[in-house]
Formats: sequence, C-alpha cells, structure tokens
Amino acid sequence: MSIYVTKSFMPPLKEYNKYVAGIFERGMLTNQGPLVEELQTKLAGYLGVENFHYVTNGTIALQLALAALDINEGEVITTPFTYVATTSSILWQRCKPVFVDIEPDNFTIDVNKIESAITPKTRAIMAVHVFGYACDVDKIEQIAKKHNLRVIFDAAHAFGTKYNGRSLLSYGDISTCSFHATKLFHTVEGGACVVRDKSVSDKLDLQKRFGHYYDTHYMLGINAKQSEFHAAMGLANFPYINDIIAARKHICDMYDNLLNGIVKRPKHQDGLEYNYAYYPVVFNSEEELLRVFDALHAIDVYPRRYFWPSLNKLPYVDGGLCPVSEDISSRIACLPLYVGLDDETVKTISETIKMVCKK
Ligand SMILES: *Cc1c(COP(=O)(O)O)cnc(C)c1O
Repeated sequence: MSIYVTKSFMPPLKEYNKYVAGIFERGMLTNQGPLVEELQTKLAGYLGVENFHYVTNGTIALQLALAALDINEGEVITTPFTYVATTSSILWQRCKPVFVDIEPDNFTIDVNKIESAITPKTRAIMAVHVFGYACDVDKIEQIAKKHNLRVIFDAAHAFGTKYNGRSLLSYGDISTCSFHATKLFHTVEGGACVVRDKSVSDKLDLQKRFGHYYDTHYMLGINAKQSEFHAAMGLANFPYINDIIAARKHICDMYDNLLNGIVKRPKHQDGLEYNYAYYPVVFNSEEELLRVFDALHAIDVYPRRYFWPSLNKLPYVDGGLCPVSEDISSRIACLPLYVGLDDETVKTISETIKMVCKK
C-alpha cells in the first residue's frame, strides 16, 4: 500500500451520518445554517477567540482578510516560504507581494529584514506560521504599529498550536486558517478568519455573503459561505482533535528518536505548544534529498517537497532574491505524518533515510 505524506482523518461514519440526517430533516443546506453556527461556536471556544468566521476555504479567508482591512492596492510584505495560496491571495486582491527572506531556524519570515522592505506603498504584513511554528508575532506587531501597517497571519498550519499560552490564531488584525482535507483538523474544504476588531469582523461577515443582508446592499462582497455538509464533517471530527494531535505527537517523537543527528530539524521555540502539523526535515543538499526520495519511492513511500519552489521564483511574480528561502526550499521535505500511520512504517521510513544519508 502506498504511503503518502498525509491522509485525511475520517470520523466514524455513524457520527457524520447523524449530522447529515438532521440536514435532511431541516432541508436547509447552506446560508449560515445551524451546523455552521454550531461549529463556529465550538471552534471559537476551542481556540479561545472571538469574531470567528467559518468560510469555504483558507484561500478565500486570506482574500477576505485583505478586503476587510481595505487592502486593495499597494504592497504587502510576505514570506516566500509557504504554500502558493499566501502569495496568490495578495495578487488576486491586486496587490504586490514583496518577499522578505526567512529565518533558517524555523522557516518563518525574518523580522530583522522587514523594515528595510517597507516603502510608502506598503499596506500590510502577511506572515505565515509555517508548519505550525510561530512567527515572531510581537516584533511583527511592533513594526506594524510603528509604520501604521495591518497584520494578517496565515495560520493555515497553526490550528491547535499555542504560543505564550494563547492560540496562534488570536494574533494580528486578522488570522486565517484552512480546514482543507490535508490539514490537521479538516472539514473536507473549509477555512476561517479570526478578526481582532468587532467593526472589521462585522464588515467581513457582510463581505462573505455578497455584501448584503436581505434586500439591503451595503458593499461589494463575495460568496464565502460554508455549507451544512462541510460543517457536519467538522462537527464529526471535532471531538477527536486532541486524539489527532496526540497520535501525531507519537509519530513525531518516533521520527525524532530514529532520525536524531541524521537530518536538520526546526529549532525548539520557547513558549510554543506545538500541534505536530508537519514533520519537515532539512537534508544536507538537494542531491541528498533526491537520493532519499529515490530510495523511499522504491518502497512505495511518497514524502513531499514542502515548500518548493521558493515563491519569489514563481513565473508570474517579480520576486527578487531570497537566498535563505531558496536554499531551504531546495533541500527540505515533509515526511509522512497522519493518524493511522503505524510504528513499523515510521521505522522503515527512518531506516531508509538513515541508510541513504550515512553513505
Ligand atoms: C492550505 C493552505 C492555504 C490554503 O487553504 P485552502 O483551504 O486549501 O484554500 C493557505 N496558506 C497555507 C500556508 C496553506 O498551507
């Protein structure tokens, strides 16, 4: 059986069906139905946040965040080391992404390089808690305040991560999340915005439903409303969040022991309560990474090159140079990590990597 980098968590079918039966009884399929409301309340409670909006995906969440903060032109400072949706959401809002290089230790935006990238056109900083590791949130907010910039955190990987005792989704003017099927907690497709100010939150609420309530049209909007069936999957998965994180921690601990000294790992961050969303490893060279991939493919195991290429190299952006991100991107990979991945397979994967890297 092929082993991929991830596999969606599936709740017991009975529990999903229980929610679906209710949808069939009510006949209400979408437009902020009762299951969407119930899931919003539960997730906001779990995260300890207010002004929480459950939307159709993590990309539209980023676009809504920019729109709700009136960022429709100018420059947005961002990281090249992330999934393409971070950059594409900026471009889709007709803004220019300005890439600032990353920290070699945990792959988040290098805060010491942000200020020199600020110009009179800069409107916001969109940083990413990549793999669930925390950006330097305090420094970023401090720089933003000094230069009157908005802060958006793409926290697509950070669901369940806490930093200094608070959910990482509670930082910034807006934090966004993704509940895509490949993410730690999923609702098949889905995403969220967590908004600091009530007034911005009210605006975003309107923008996510075409900009109107009943027959009164207030502003330009889009459709980011989530369906009851997606909320049903979220509600069925919700009771398992802690089990999911615990099972992933077990696998990460095994990799840590088995691969100690073989590959480079992100640096431990003080104050971080990690969610074990990914298991990134940095090889000594791209050549070594490719040899490891050949050996793993031969035993039907498929890790992924996350994130590659460095997004400043996208063919449709004028991205400049980000040497650290380009270097890390060329030799980093995420190993298989999901609930149900058994100990034997983790051992086999680790032994294979060890054999290749020791040569
Ligand atoms: C998955 C992801 C997104 C996009 O989320 P979708 O729900 O797939 O649209 C955005 N940013 C990052 C960092 C992601 O990993």
